[in-house]
Amino acid sequence: MSAREYDVVIVGAGFAGMYLLHRVRRLGMSVRVLEQGSDVGGTWYWNRYPGARCDVESMQYSYQFDDDLQQEWHWPERYSAQPDILKYAQHVADRFDLRKDIDFEMRLASAHFDEESAIWTLKAEDDTVTMARFFVMATGCLSAPNWPKIEGLKSFAGPTYHTALWPHEKVVFSGKRVAVIGTGSSAIQSIPHIAREATHLTVFQRTPNYAIPAHNREMDPELEKEIKTHYPTMRARAKTTSGGLDVVYNQGSIHDATPDERNSAFERNWQRGGLGFMSAYGDLMVDQSANEIAAEFVRNKIRERVKDPQTAERLCPRNVIGAKRLCVDIGYYETYNRDNVDLVDVGAAPIEKITPEGVRAHGRLYEVDALIIATGFDAMTGALTRVDIRGRDDASLAERWKDGPSTYLGLAMHEFPNLFTVTGPGSPSVFSNMLPTIEQHVDWIADCLGHAKSQGFKTVEAEANAEQDWWAHCQELGNIGLKTVTDSWYVGANVSGKARVFLPYFGGIPAYFKKCEEVVENGYEGFAFR
Ligand code: NAP
Repeated sequence: MSAREYDVVIVGAGFAGMYLLHRVRRLGMSVRVLEQGSDVGGTWYWNRYPGARCDVESMQYSYQFDDDLQQEWHWPERYSAQPDILKYAQHVADRFDLRKDIDFEMRLASAHFDEESAIWTLKAEDDTVTMARFFVMATGCLSAPNWPKIEGLKSFAGPTYHTALWPHEKVVFSGKRVAVIGTGSSAIQSIPHIAREATHLTVFQRTPNYAIPAHNREMDPELEKEIKTHYPTMRARAKTTSGGLDVVYNQGSIHDATPDERNSAFERNWQRGGLGFMSAYGDLMVDQSANEIAAEFVRNKIRERVKDPQTAERLCPRNVIGAKRLCVDIGYYETYNRDNVDLVDVGAAPIEKITPEGVRAHGRLYEVDALIIATGFDAMTGALTRVDIRGRDDASLAERWKDGPSTYLGLAMHEFPNLFTVTGPGSPSVFSNMLPTIEQHVDWIADCLGHAKSQGFKTVEAEANAEQDWWAHCQELGNIGLKTVTDSWYVGANVSGKARVFLPYFGGIPAYFKKCEEVVENGYEGFAFR
């Protein structure tokens, strides 16, 4: 077996890995991408469940590094469905001839750094060995599926599907009794579709979620033309907002508004639809009483949409709105008006076990023919800690992050020279429009690689102090307001045994981008080049 050697190895051929490949090629460095799937697309390759759709509008959820690409591409709908986003990723791969530098169906098992040679040795599960001077984990924030710990899960006699590992061939539910476990975004998107097809659907809900309607529609040609005419202006405006989205955020306090004014502000956002709902007032995520007014507005909408008052109440979340990522729905709550759909609460008393016949809860067996697990991801750290990554002195990343991660800017870690992460913990990532954030990270990493190459440096490594200070800053920001009062994947609470630590950076896109620029202007402050 001969080892392959490259200047740069990128893990993952989603939007991050694809763009980084394109950038690194232009630096004149040799580069290879390792991808576990059989094609590009990352999250949009794996999450193929019925109804999978982006919760950021199509005209904003796209690359901006190539103006011809953004001008020529046509998105058919306001919010893109998974097959359209995958088609876009495939188009980008064709357009920039990316596939020739990607090894598909190659899953990374380990990556070990040798200090003397300053080379990473990467071993895939099929034993292929690849050597790299620089190594970038472009493995996504929501890519390591989280399986629930429920007794007997493997004993179920029928097919079991995880929403994040959906089969490529069409799954047929007609004539079947189906159970869905979970009521997060993936479940909320898929449930209306499955309910329309299956004979009967039972939804097992541990915690109800807030969903804002998408009001999805075909792309308005006038809007598309208008945006394309002023694309750079819109992209620049988006970068001035905390989430990197072209949405107007009202910074004012809800307490300065009358009840009628509040109602109209929320109604306006409700009618517009989508994630911008919380932009109505500036204090919704810092003041419990302000948050409760927004939450009650949404609960009243659920009560209007669900005919049976008892079911409506069971679907009404009682926790802080926005502390978990909001869901964006198309007909979710109305699905519970159907005769073939039942909601089973498993919050107070958890699912007892899965048997070959179905799901046992509250002492009763719910017999089903198919089981859907919609229990999300080991978010932000899972894709990194599931690989045996060892840096200087054999330091294990998984071991080091046992009590929670720490990074410098979400980009690099002390003791792990020449390893970069795209949208790692400690970066705005999941609190932002992912595609522009990915582009910013990729540009920063590519520029840093270019700098190392031009100056003849063998290694670049985050300094311990810089990492400690950055991580402390991230935790300080994370603890402000209401973001951590609810269990969520933002704090790792959805994975049993995972340390409860606030994972993303919450200082907003403008502050983060500025910090990254300042680091470079100050001679890569906080990074040691050798
Ligand atoms: P999720 O938000 O983590 O939801 C998982 C669901 O499974 C929750 O309802 C959770 O209940 C439930 N659950 C977990 N273990 C359980 C158990 N043992 N018994 C019963 N219920 C259990 O996962 P997700 O829906 O896959 O979404 C994750 C993130 O991916 C989203 O927040 C979003 O950022 C992203 N996503 C985006 C889109 C989009 O762009 N439209 C679509 C899908 C996903 P608890 O709440 O009680 O923990």
